[in-house]
Amino acid sequence: MTPPARRALLRGMALALAVILPVLLARCSGAPAGAKPNVLLITVDTLRLDRIGAYGGPPESTPSIDTLAGQGVRFASVQGPRGLTWPSLTTLLTGLQPRTHGVRANGAMLEEGFRTLPEVLRSAGWKTAGFLANMCDAPNRGLDEFFCAWWEKTGPPPRRTRFQWASHEQAAWDESVTRHAIEFIGGRHERPFFAWVHYIDPHKPFDPVPEFASPIVDGSFQPDDATLDALTLGPTPMTAAQRAQLFAIYDSQVKGVDAKIGRLLAALRDAGRENDTLVIFSADHGEELGDHAVYFHHLCSVYQQVLAVPLILRWPGQLPAGRVVEADAALVDATPTVLDLLGVPTALPFEGASRAGLARGTPGASGADATFSEWSDRMVIVGEGKWRYIWNPKQVVPECLPFTRSETVHFPVAAEELYDLESDPSQRSNVVASRPDRAAEMRGRACEFVTEKEFRRRNFDQVPTEVRERLESLGYLEGEVADTGPPLSSFCPSAP
Ligand SMILES: [Zn+2]
Repeated sequence: MTPPARRALLRGMALALAVILPVLLARCSGAPAGAKPNVLLITVDTLRLDRIGAYGGPPESTPSIDTLAGQGVRFASVQGPRGLTWPSLTTLLTGLQPRTHGVRANGAMLEEGFRTLPEVLRSAGWKTAGFLANMCDAPNRGLDEFFCAWWEKTGPPPRRTRFQWASHEQAAWDESVTRHAIEFIGGRHERPFFAWVHYIDPHKPFDPVPEFASPIVDGSFQPDDATLDALTLGPTPMTAAQRAQLFAIYDSQVKGVDAKIGRLLAALRDAGRENDTLVIFSADHGEELGDHAVYFHHLCSVYQQVLAVPLILRWPGQLPAGRVVEADAALVDATPTVLDLLGVPTALPFEGASRAGLARGTPGASGADATFSEWSDRMVIVGEGKWRYIWNPKQVVPECLPFTRSETVHFPVAAEELYDLESDPSQRSNVVASRPDRAAEMRGRACEFVTEKEFRRRNFDQVPTEVRERLESLGYLEGEVADTGPPLSSFCPSAP
């Protein structure tokens, strides 16, 4: 068969599947027509776990998220796959690790052939919609309706100096997303809906809108790019007072998003849809805020300040209110869990597992034996209960450019690091030397992980020029250069 003929045949088969699959799925689901709930997925960019009240943070910042947690199931220990938006959101939406779905950097495209949660749900009869405050080019397939706040007035935004937007502008994008999502939630729908709402404002720049500014914020510290870069690069440590101000400012931005989430959930209730809607709340990653290497962002970090994420599921009458799941889970489990809860069968080869049993409180339901995060294709972070192990056999030193200076920020990571989160939640004390047994066991896990999955190398050549330019203008394509060295698996004991 000639290549064009083969392509035509494949297209025909794909089309036939697209027509037949929804029918099959509807027949297989076993649920009577009309019994499907709506699904509302809320994600917040750069939301650090320990700044959420329900997760031990200041409750005054997150009353809406905390209320949601009280009404649903809160997973206490959820590991994100990467401290970077696109890889992480793609993992959330595909149930695959970055080294499998191949989106290892912002700007990388998800290959055809992988299926996202909205695509699966659309095939199974849901009306799908997305309302994104940023990252509008990120894997957004399968959405019948799509609103991007970035593009609202001007179309794809013009080039700008890197990260020179104002936080107030981010708050405006979040506001715009909220209004459009509320309109959708309250609208008439012939089918159950899946709506994804993604917020941005906890992301830097750190400059809260006055309406939500904490009374602690006194103006004594202005954490603009130049000031933060000077702290990262310079010899002067951040003072306790500066740190307190930075956290109060960050919390104020979280509070602004929380208020919008509160309005979203109130709209769901006012529309009479609270009881037949599964709400999923999560984040792509957290933020360092100066805690390691006086680094304030997330791209370079391999620590829990960035890798720990929230996961809350609320479905009145179907999931127990106020339940807290202590067992380990990961963001890669989200899509399998949601599809399991909805009763949507799928043969997709997920790397995550359904934690629906844990959510329901089913006796014997188990969490993840181990969780895995990645830093590009060069480091692996293994989680097992209270332990976090960082495997960096190439001794890579992530380089993250500051936003206003030309010097390179080095974010040092040892060849191996091991932390006991119970006694050392801030990950200050590397105990790899005193616990070689534990380190060896977790190194074995890391080796299994990298050996099992051949990393799908991607490079920026595959990013469409227009998308690439837009991301570069926003400072999003830094710190990632394709690794041409030997694969991580070659550092494993069994490697030839
Ligand atoms: Zn992000």
